[in-house]
Amino acid sequence: MLNNSTLHIYNFGAGPATLPHEVVEATAQAVTDFDGMGLSLMEIGHRTPQFQAIMKEAQSLMKELLHVPDGYSVLFLGGGARMQFDMIPMNLLHHKAAYLDCGHWAHQAMEEAQLFGEVEVVASSEAEGYASIPHNFTIPEDADYLHLTTNNTIYGTELRSDLDSPIPLVADMSSDILTRPIDVERYGIIYGGAQKNLSMAGVTFVIIRNEIAGRSARQLPAMLDYAVHIKHGSMYNTPPMLPIFTALQTLRWVKRQGGVEEMGRRAAERAAVVYDEIDRNPLFMGTALPADRSLMNACFVLSPAYKHLEGAFADFALSRGIYGIRGHRSVGGFRASMYNAMPLEGAQALAQCMKDFAHLQGAE
Ligand SMILES: *Cc1c(COP(=O)(O)O)cnc(C)c1O
Repeated sequence: MLNNSTLHIYNFGAGPATLPHEVVEATAQAVTDFDGMGLSLMEIGHRTPQFQAIMKEAQSLMKELLHVPDGYSVLFLGGGARMQFDMIPMNLLHHKAAYLDCGHWAHQAMEEAQLFGEVEVVASSEAEGYASIPHNFTIPEDADYLHLTTNNTIYGTELRSDLDSPIPLVADMSSDILTRPIDVERYGIIYGGAQKNLSMAGVTFVIIRNEIAGRSARQLPAMLDYAVHIKHGSMYNTPPMLPIFTALQTLRWVKRQGGVEEMGRRAAERAAVVYDEIDRNPLFMGTALPADRSLMNACFVLSPAYKHLEGAFADFALSRGIYGIRGHRSVGGFRASMYNAMPLEGAQALAQCMKDFAHLQGAE
C-alpha cells in the first residue's frame, strides 16, 4: 500500500514514533558493526568501556539539554512509563499523594498509586472527556508529591509550563520530553517511555532528585528501588543497551539542531500549520479546548455533516504518504502526532491533504 518509492512517507503515529533518519541509520550501523569493532552492539557487554561511554554521554547530554541541576540522576530503566506508575508511589508515597486526573495515562497512574496508599485527586477533567486540562486547583501542602501528565497523548492536551507547587512535582513527560525547556528544580521526578520523542521502545528515562529516593518505609524489591539504580549509575542490571544507544543518537541530534529551545520553536510552527487547517476547513473539527491544545498530538474529527467520510479520509491520507493518523482506539477520530523528528514539511503535507480532500468533496 505504501510501496510507491517516489512518495515521501510522514509518520504521524503516536508511539512508537518517528525518529530522525540519521538516528535510525546510526542504529542500523551499530547493530551490524558497532564502532568498527567487527561486532554488533547487541553482542558486547554492558560493562565494556564502549558501552560505558554510551551510557555516560546519554546521561550527561540529557542533563545538558534539559539544564538538569546538580543533585539529580538520569536513569535508563526497563518497564516502560507504566512501571513508573508503580515505582513512584512505592518509593515516594509515605503519607498521601496528590494526582491531577487530566487524561487516560494520568488516570492509570492514579489508580496504581491507590494500591499503595492515600491518593487525593486535586482536579479531574474526566467528566468532559479529558478535552481540557484543569487549571484551578489547590495543591495540598501535606502531600508527598503531585503527579501530573504534561502531555496527554490520547486527547491532545498539553501543559507547556511548570506549575508553582509547594511540594515536588512528579511528571510523566513520555510524549513531550525534550520539546521545551523545563524548570527541573520544581520536579522530584520526570519520567517517560522513550518511544515517543527519544528512542525505540524498551527504555524508560527517569530524571530524579537524589534526595527523594531511598526514604521509603516499605521493603522494596531492589529492581524497584530508585536508590539502588542511582547507586549503580543505572547499571544495576543489564540496561536496554540498543534503545539507550538510539536515545544517545537522538540527544546528539537535538543538540545539533539547537537544543530544546529550537525543538519548542519548531513544535509551535508545525502545530500552527495543522491547527490552522483544522479550524479553517469545514470538514474537520478539533476535539481539545483550544487553550490546552497539545503541540505534539493534534486530535480532530470530521464535522457531523461529514462523519461518513472518516474511512475515505483515512485512505486518502495514506495515499498521500500521511501515515498513522487514526486516533487512539479508545477515542476514534484522527490524531496527528508531531514529535521532534517531524519536519515542518510533514505538517504542511497533512494540511494540504486535508485541503485537497475537502476540495474533492466539493466542500470548498
Ligand atoms: C505512551 C504513554 C504511556 C505508556 O508508556 P509505556 O512505555 O507503554 O508504558 C504513558 N504515559 C504517556 C503520557 C504516554 O504517552
